[in-house]
Amino acid sequence: MNCLFCSIIDKQIPADIVYEDEHVLAFRDINPQTPQHMLVIPKQHIATLNDANEADALLLGRLSLAAAKLATQQGFAEAGYRTVMNCNAHGGQTVDHIHLHLLGGKALGWPPFTDQLKTV
Ligand code: AMP
Ligand code: ZN
Repeated sequence: MNCLFCSIIDKQIPADIVYEDEHVLAFRDINPQTPQHMLVIPKQHIATLNDANEADALLLGRLSLAAAKLATQQGFAEAGYRTVMNCNAHGGQTVDHIHLHLLGGKALGWPPFTDQLKTV
């Protein structure tokens, strides 16, 4: 399978890895949208959130917990941060291996995107 994030997990493609355990890997986003922007991914390939099932519930939870741990390690947990998982075209997903964006280092606006107010 040709998957960019699986290649990063297998260390075939370099990444700025900031956290790793048995189930989860996290690395800095190559095109950061905030001063702190990391991606938390499962080591198991799941293409989109739509492809996750009941058996993946624990793994999905691990992504959030790893993001919180990472925010603490990086020193911005108390200030706050946002986690986002995009799904498919309307969600803006460009890499088909699920990933939790961890965004921090500045105060973020809400709602996050002005175009979310457009009617579909
Ligand atoms: P999404 O648009 O939600 O699928 O997010 C994919 C993210 O992966 C984007 O924020 C990209 O900047 C990021 N990205 C793509 N290639 C790499 C890479 N080789 N290393 C780190 N981040 C990457
Ligand atoms: Zn993959």
